[in-house]
Amino acid sequence: MASEKANPPPPAYDQVDHTVSSAYPHPQTSTTVIVTGPSVGPDPTTIVCPSCRATVVTRLDYETTTRTHLCAALLCLFICWPCVCVPYLTTTCRDANHYCPNCSAFIGTYRK
Ligand SMILES: [Zn+2]
Repeated sequence: MASEKANPPPPAYDQVDHTVSSAYPHPQTSTTVIVTGPSVGPDPTTIVCPSCRATVVTRLDYETTTRTHLCAALLCLFICWPCVCVPYLTTTCRDANHYCPNCSAFIGTYRK
């Protein structure tokens, strides 16, 4: 078997069309900026209340969300079922709602 076939040239992978992505303007028109009032953190924050204009330390109220239930379900499935209560006891999986202690106005939500 002396007749050795010459390898065919490799397909021209370099000619894959790279121009498609630049043919359109960047489709980033839907920049979602969720404004939840003043920037608040996971802890009570000193802030000027937008409602009563008083400088207050916000009152925190942790809200059980769908994510809390999701955390609980995941814990239940993958770790152990007694852990199912953990997300409801800790603040990790819950949103922190900030309220004005002076006029009880809602100020903002901190989501992790
Ligand atoms: Zn207030």
